[in-house]
Amino acid sequence: MKDNTKYKATIGLEIHAELKTKTKMFCSCKNDPDEEKPNSNICSICTAQPGTLPVINKEAVKHVLKIGLACNSKIADFTEWDRKNYFYPDIPKGYQISQYKYPLVIGGNLKGVELTRVHLEEDTGASTHDAGNFSLVNFNRSGVPLMELVTEPVIHSGKQAADFAKELQLLLQYMGVGDANMEKGEMRVEANISVSTTDKFGTKVEIKNLNSFRTLERALAYEIERQIDAIEKGEKVIQETRGWDEAKQKTYSQRIKEESHDYRYFPDPDLPKMMVSEVFDMKELKKELPELPWERREKYLNEFGIKEQDAEFFVNNIELGNFFESVIIGFKGNHEKSADLVASKDLIKLASNYVSSDMVGFMSKDLTLKYPAPEKFAKIILMVSDGKLSSRVAKDLVERLLKENIDPEEIANNEGLIQKNDEGTVIEIAKKLIAENPKVVADYKAGKEAALMFFVGQIMKATKGSSNPQVIKKVLVDLLK
Ligand code: ADP
Ligand code: ZN
Ligand code: MG
Repeated sequence: MKDNTKYKATIGLEIHAELKTKTKMFCSCKNDPDEEKPNSNICSICTAQPGTLPVINKEAVKHVLKIGLACNSKIADFTEWDRKNYFYPDIPKGYQISQYKYPLVIGGNLKGVELTRVHLEEDTGASTHDAGNFSLVNFNRSGVPLMELVTEPVIHSGKQAADFAKELQLLLQYMGVGDANMEKGEMRVEANISVSTTDKFGTKVEIKNLNSFRTLERALAYEIERQIDAIEKGEKVIQETRGWDEAKQKTYSQRIKEESHDYRYFPDPDLPKMMVSEVFDMKELKKELPELPWERREKYLNEFGIKEQDAEFFVNNIELGNFFESVIIGFKGNHEKSADLVASKDLIKLASNYVSSDMVGFMSKDLTLKYPAPEKFAKIILMVSDGKLSSRVAKDLVERLLKENIDPEEIANNEGLIQKNDEGTVIEIAKKLIAENPKVVADYKAGKEAALMFFVGQIMKATKGSSNPQVIKKVLVDLLK
């Protein structure tokens, strides 16, 4: 039997993410990842015509600096851009402008993982080879600002790697600096992985083409097993680049790394060097930071006291989280008691349940449904909290609010849906039902719980679901004694 516990897996990530800016990194072409017409957002600079000069996009630099500030990193005093030389048809200059010795951001921490650096470079064009006996190159992506983040080798499982990548995606989205959609290639993850039984690192393998968090997690889990198996068999792990085969759920060898590629980096003479603090005021940039994903998570758990699962759901779905918060704001001024209730967290928890289960349930079944007005949603929650609505009626009202944009309070009043807690009506209906259904009564007395539920159902029906089931049960049990 192989014993995995004596092996320690070590993982380091290299993540590229396209940044959202009006224009490209070094020219004034539109940065539009959704442009479908090939070679429409291009100019003489991003197609590398001779004699053209690149100009630094300040907005992109600012985005990277803010990422650094959010991660408590050290911000560079001095930075410069370097040419990374290699030949490929989708890099028309024969080099990519990147940062080598002086990255904008050094160190820092995200989701408990130490960062090595974050630097800024330009994306390449995109080649396609599936059109016939030739290849096509689309330069729309050429020169789009691309940040590269490198972590220290301090991650130990596929799950932890996926959680990290997910948190980075959220950070980019919260800051509005990138959509980081992995399926669209806006965020691309490369994972380096080695296993070892000692403190010394083993030989690392690099996995590429990981286009979802699930794939990242699975590929790493697979690779950990593969490397352990190899060592157990007395084989050596080879330093190589591997890809992920989605159909086989396996990694496969793509190319064996000879010695490391020599990119002949040197500072780009066409671009000015930069004293970062002369161009940006860090105090001002810090003020521009929005609420960050981990801050929101902390608030939901500790201040709002909602379930961890709901908190994570709202943190991961920014729009939904925003809606949830608007509902809470909608409580204020809507109700004389609401301030106290909000303070007691009961309303917030109730709202959290109705948003995350009922509302999301309806919206995921019908994708055309839009978020309702938060004040109206808040009214439903307030009525539930006041004991005025049964949970069944509340759910119906949520559905009608989504589909017909009703005014829940008005509908509840006009259609007699307010829960009746007065026993009088219920006793009257119950007495009549008991008299009309001697067989059901006998069943109940013989110990059949279901018989009682039959009566509860009938009374709910007779009162259009507006009776409190607890009250109904109590009345029935008393009458049937
Ligand atoms: P290279 O020179 O091959 O690019 P780097 O030292 O630049 O290697 O590291 C690239 C990535 O690989 C970083 O994320 C780093 O944390 C990670 N890494 C380095 N050594 C190992 C190792 N032995 N096992 C796993 N990951 C590693
Ligand atoms: Zn251009
Ligand atoms: Mg490297």
